[in-house]
Amino acid sequence: MPLFILCKWGINDRSVFEGREGPVEIGFTYFDCTRNSFKDIALRAIISDIHANLEALEAVLTDIRRSGIAEIYCLGDVIGYGPNPCECIELVYPFDKCLLGNHDQAALFDPDGFNASAERAVFWTRGQLEAAAGSERQQKRWDYLGELPRLVREPNFMYVHGSARNPLNEYVFPEDIYNERKMERIFSLVEKYCFQGHTHIPGVFTEDLNFLAPEEIDFTYELGAKKVLINVGSVGQPRNGDPRSSYVVLDQNTIHFKRVEYDFNKTAQKIYAIQDLDNFLGDRLKEGR
Ligand code: ZN
Repeated sequence: MPLFILCKWGINDRSVFEGREGPVEIGFTYFDCTRNSFKDIALRAIISDIHANLEALEAVLTDIRRSGIAEIYCLGDVIGYGPNPCECIELVYPFDKCLLGNHDQAALFDPDGFNASAERAVFWTRGQLEAAAGSERQQKRWDYLGELPRLVREPNFMYVHGSARNPLNEYVFPEDIYNERKMERIFSLVEKYCFQGHTHIPGVFTEDLNFLAPEEIDFTYELGAKKVLINVGSVGQPRNGDPRSSYVVLDQNTIHFKRVEYDFNKTAQKIYAIQDLDNFLGDRLKEGR
């Protein structure tokens, strides 16, 4: 009896499995056709820092659907910096989990600790969210943002935007491996594995204070006995010198770091056309900085 994928993403692609009985390769993973429930397959996409970049989000969601992934978690900063905050929020609604990021919070309340250009972007974003005030769609977006959690815990797993110590605002940069005190404190708050975003730089922090960039580990990391912090990178504003969107897939105990191309010129053009969004916010997309 061939398995077919049926999930809220509309991946109902029987043709992939029809007439096949052995394992079927989809994307980078194998599904066993003899299993009869898609729920048995623990594939989860973890994305972060969309930053109102619609072209990047759509490209990543297409990649996720093509890989037959059922679950999506987002670690926050759905909005801020980019030209399409409303559209991006609405695309996030069906996700299984979404956290509050510092930019989401800034749009809801008041920007704190932002530079002048980021602050102008916050106020422009808020204006977009407040447009058509009173309409059902506007209210729903506002309520959705206001109810996002700062932290999600599951057995062995923890999900934050910034860090386990300060889920909303603390950066954990690769160079922090030299800051033993900071890292020890953060690791002490993590049961096993912590997924985070915020810096827009993907990679794995180990408890013995190493930072493993995805390209150094062949874009794969096997979760084991040791505690790790995993930064999933950014969908909408990558900053590690590669303009492609970054996200990770959790497949049982294996983490796959993924990169996805998108039309960053289109996003940049939209940014250039909006006075309150600094041109630099468009320029940086082309270089991934
Ligand atoms: Zn961010």
